Amino acid sequence: MVAKGDMVYAWAADAAVQEKGECGGAITALQQYALKSGMVDAVLAVKKGQDLYDAVPTLITDPVDLAETAGSLHCGTLLLSKVVKKYLESTENTRVGVTVKGCDLMGLIELAKRDAVDMDRLLLIGVNCGGSVSPVSARKMIAEKFGVNPDDVVKEEIDKGQFIIVTKDGEHKGISIDELEEEGYGRRSNCRRCLYKVPRQADLAAGNWGVIGDKAGKATFVEVCSEKGAELLNKAAAAGALETSAAIPKGIEIRGKVENAMLKLGNKWRKNDFNALSSDLWGTIERETARCIKCYSCIENCPVCFPASEDLKGNSRMVTTGEIPPNPMFHLRRFAHISDSCVNCGQCEELCPMDIPLALFSHAIRSEGDAAFQPKLGRAPYKN
Ligand code: FAD
Ligand code: SF4
Ligand code: SF4
Repeated sequence: MVAKGDMVYAWAADAAVQEKGECGGAITALQQYALKSGMVDAVLAVKKGQDLYDAVPTLITDPVDLAETAGSLHCGTLLLSKVVKKYLESTENTRVGVTVKGCDLMGLIELAKRDAVDMDRLLLIGVNCGGSVSPVSARKMIAEKFGVNPDDVVKEEIDKGQFIIVTKDGEHKGISIDELEEEGYGRRSNCRRCLYKVPRQADLAAGNWGVIGDKAGKATFVEVCSEKGAELLNKAAAAGALETSAAIPKGIEIRGKVENAMLKLGNKWRKNDFNALSSDLWGTIERETARCIKCYSCIENCPVCFPASEDLKGNSRMVTTGEIPPNPMFHLRRFAHISDSCVNCGQCEELCPMDIPLALFSHAIRSEGDAAFQPKLGRAPYKN
């Protein structure tokens, strides 16, 4: 039996799920059990779409279908917070299991602070996240740095500081993320600045860091973060859905060290990115946003931006309608709306057709406040 605060290695009991899972399939087994047992009515997970660079959210009500969501996709453009909000709004009293990265979770918590999401209806399995790569950058990086046709890649993973690909001919190639990033490839710029690597405000936090010994690569390290998480793990193990063993103390130590190293790296990137802006923040915003075609993608895709769209898009007292590019006030007003909630998910920037570095601006503005304010972004008051 586990309790809140415990750390274990876990893997699926079912051999097929074990095989298909990223690190032994514990998450898939837990979601399957949660559905079968009625702890949740549906699971929102992610599956491969057209190709490896296309991560698609999918709502599942039949436990068998969860097999197609096993595995980690590091190169999709994806944020689940607003999808969860929309689903909860469209149903009454349903409970949903969701696998969340730190940014998905932070977005949900910020929405909950605004009473836009009821956290009691969610069962959250967090995945540690060292960062993801945008589909466009991933294809470019694989073609230019790995010398491989991106369509020939059948698996990608990030392990021990390397981005690794496996081709359809079974060839493995890995290049250090540091080297890739020095040359302008690698993780999204917002992921580099992220300081939320282990999502401890989920019910369980799962990842591969710290799994050593004969279970390396075959099990998931699970930190139990809430009573609800302990209940799920205990019941799933008792029902024979997954197996667990105590985490090796040396593995716990290694996981802590890796997490700290990632946080240090995140702070280094913040310094690098924000310092470059500091001498002329306003000038840079004015110059960059002059390309804006007012498509509203940054508003639609921001997890924490949901004022009445009429207010944002037209009939506003603050911004003249029908003007392209819009007056910089269009952007300043948005920064003001989300400035205390920008979780640095990067969606606004990645999905801007004019490549305006919007997340950089809003994160630079927000992180200054976050250094002083409580509760921190994506944290309390929603303690689990
Ligand atoms: P599985 O049973 O294979 O289940 C995987 C679950 O992840 C499924 O529910 C699936 O829907 C979901 N999923 C897949 N891709 C995404 C996505 N892009 N966004 C949201 N959910 C997704 N662990 C670490 O310790 N260190 C890391 O640096 C790290 N980086 C990661 C980065 C990403 C983008 C992802 C998705 C995961 C990362 N992980 C990391 C977690 C690790 O890869 C495994 O997901 C974890 O160990 C669980 O393995 P499993 O076999 O139990 O999961
Ligand atoms: Fe303008 Fe880019 Fe936002 Fe579209 S996504 S409104 S182009 S800033
Ligand atoms: Fe994400 Fe951009 Fe919204 Fe910040 S402003 S939460 S980076 S979409």
